[in-house]
Amino acid sequence: MASLQQSLKQYFGYDSFRDGQEEIINQALLNRDLLIIMPTGGGKSLCFQLPALLKKGIAIVVSPLISLMQDQVTALQDNGIGATFLNSTLDFQEVRRREQNILSGKIKLLYLAPERLVSERFQDFLNSIVSTIGISFFAMDEAHCISEWGHDFRQEYRQLRQLRFRFPNIPLMALTATATTRVQKDIISQLNLKNPAIHRFSFNRSNLYYEVQPRQKRTYQQVLNLIQHLEGSGIIYCFARKTTEDLASRLREDSISALPYHGGLNDEMRSQYQNSFIRDDVRIMVATVAFGMGINKPDVRFVIHHDLPRNIESYYQESGRAGRDSEPSKCILLYNPNDKYKIDYFIKQKSNLQEQKIAYQQLTKVIEYAETNYCRRIVQLGYFGEKFKGDCDGCDNCLNPKEIEDWTIEAQKFLSCIARVEEKFGIKHIIEILRGSRAEKIYKYGHHLLSTYGIGKDKTSTQWEYLGKSLIYQGLLNQTNDSYRILKLNKESWEILRLKKQVKIAVENNSIEKRLTEFNPKALEIELLLQRLKKLRKTLADKENIAPYVIFGDSTLKIMAQIQPKTLETLSKLSGVTEYKLQKYGDKFLREILAFCHQEILPTNLPNHTQMKTLQLYQQNLTVTEIAKERGLTISTIMSHFAELIELKQPINLDKFVNIEKQKKILNIIHQLGNQPLKVIKDKLGDNYTYDEIRLVKAWQKKINN
Ligand code: ADP
Ligand code: ZN
Repeated sequence: MASLQQSLKQYFGYDSFRDGQEEIINQALLNRDLLIIMPTGGGKSLCFQLPALLKKGIAIVVSPLISLMQDQVTALQDNGIGATFLNSTLDFQEVRRREQNILSGKIKLLYLAPERLVSERFQDFLNSIVSTIGISFFAMDEAHCISEWGHDFRQEYRQLRQLRFRFPNIPLMALTATATTRVQKDIISQLNLKNPAIHRFSFNRSNLYYEVQPRQKRTYQQVLNLIQHLEGSGIIYCFARKTTEDLASRLREDSISALPYHGGLNDEMRSQYQNSFIRDDVRIMVATVAFGMGINKPDVRFVIHHDLPRNIESYYQESGRAGRDSEPSKCILLYNPNDKYKIDYFIKQKSNLQEQKIAYQQLTKVIEYAETNYCRRIVQLGYFGEKFKGDCDGCDNCLNPKEIEDWTIEAQKFLSCIARVEEKFGIKHIIEILRGSRAEKIYKYGHHLLSTYGIGKDKTSTQWEYLGKSLIYQGLLNQTNDSYRILKLNKESWEILRLKKQVKIAVENNSIEKRLTEFNPKALEIELLLQRLKKLRKTLADKENIAPYVIFGDSTLKIMAQIQPKTLETLSKLSGVTEYKLQKYGDKFLREILAFCHQEILPTNLPNHTQMKTLQLYQQNLTVTEIAKERGLTISTIMSHFAELIELKQPINLDKFVNIEKQKKILNIIHQLGNQPLKVIKDKLGDNYTYDEIRLVKAWQKKINN
């Protein structure tokens, strides 16, 4: 008999098991009942799919959503595995055909919705399976749906309790990604699991990078900028339906393919939009939390939260839709401390006091997540009862630790100013006084006569605002809950004023060196090939009407681009390449790789080292002045790099340096005069135009003509 490892390679193309999978599979082969608690992306499906293939009989998989079922079955079939589903989307004849197929023994995995499995009508068919080919085991995917304590309780799941009584000798396997112990206990008792082997894995998703950014006033620009610097597909979660619509349409205006998704759209539109996303026809889904469990897309590369989620568990689940294929992916939360008032409002609507209390506790925790200066994983995993040691190397606080500074004196200035205006004003007004503003209202109130007037000119408004907010977060100052947001001193504030308490503030540590990565021509070559392989994958997928990831996952394409196999033999060894896929797609991918290697090993027109350095800093959003300073070069040298980079078709945004009106004027003159030295063009344009502007536009025009 083939070893488990060999079967793994044969059916799924993987070289090794992930932690825990092998033990689970062995226990399944020994007919143990099992409870498997694994985070999303952990590799749950394999835990029932491989035993299903190795055991006698057919495995019955219960899955709550039709779309999930279809996706899994397609993926299995695409590996040449006998799998099928029965659900309400099929007509009578198709059901008959599939039933015959099942009884003929060709099928190893049958996916069903829970209501069908327990329906009276289905029992006859079930009995004939038992008496002919036999049932190897039942697998309950998303088993938390059986518990009222979980987040998606489903009545139909409750009926699964009958299975144990009807088929006492057929093993049960329950799988979930829900972290709470209460739900876990409930699953065991509801399903009546017999002495189950329980496998609980860490909820740490090490391939995800977590970051919290203050949500800026110009939020749209912030989101756009983020997306322009991120790669691949992404989800943007918003609180309100209207925001999803607005954001999606603005992104489309900026040539980024995006669709909205929320509960107000009809079923047809929702499934159409969802499909476009899964097939990579559209890059971004701007969605409310209605976009969720049914989405089987393993290669989501980022999830941005536009608003504060209600609690850590929702944040974990929603952001966790990124990187299910274990490839590096980003989760970014845009945070504005005022978000809590919105959630607060909804909590107040709850009539049940106990529920209110729990909701407040949860809110406090999620705010702690957003505001912590320590490793974000400590808060996140702590919520699930896991002790995490910190230093994760995969969150903003660990990668770019803030420095803690003593701001006691500044805080005293700030707080005494509040006292002087008798606690009747908001943060903006206080800052204006501190910075000695000449605004009319300051004079009107006589606040220019206060002793605190103008004593804070050494700090910017942003710094003062940051201090004010930090004081509020740290509970060292109060703010009224109404729309005036008036600042009120509390006991702690007075302790600071009396020098009994110090104020520590975490400030951004902006060392640029840390963000610099070395330019490496080999990496660029791999990236170019990867892009081509992705294109090929998309073309093939469209032809077959399936999602691209079903052909090969991103990780397999990456290895392909790195190793660049030249024979089917080498290709077959790569992780994710099964015998079946090799036959079906091997030739096509090989041809693409060979074509690439012949033409494109390091194209000659790549940026050189110094140009590349400038490009990298530009991509990290540094201004021209900052780049010049960082590199110890003059601004005009940097500008000439930009011109050269534009000509080399590198992603430099001309609009950042020359406004559209000027661009048009300059282009006009270039067209009129033809290819002339800069000086000639400048003489014609006059003093309003700089050499740099002309040089950039000229480069851009050359690029277009090439
Ligand atoms: P879950 O259902 O737990 O969210 P999946 O079963 O969808 O996770 O698996 C997540 C991803 O990990 C899939 O792309 C799957 O193919 C991949 N995977 C699972 N097991 C392995 C393994 N042993 N080696 C490599 N990749 C694996
Ligand atoms: Zn961390």
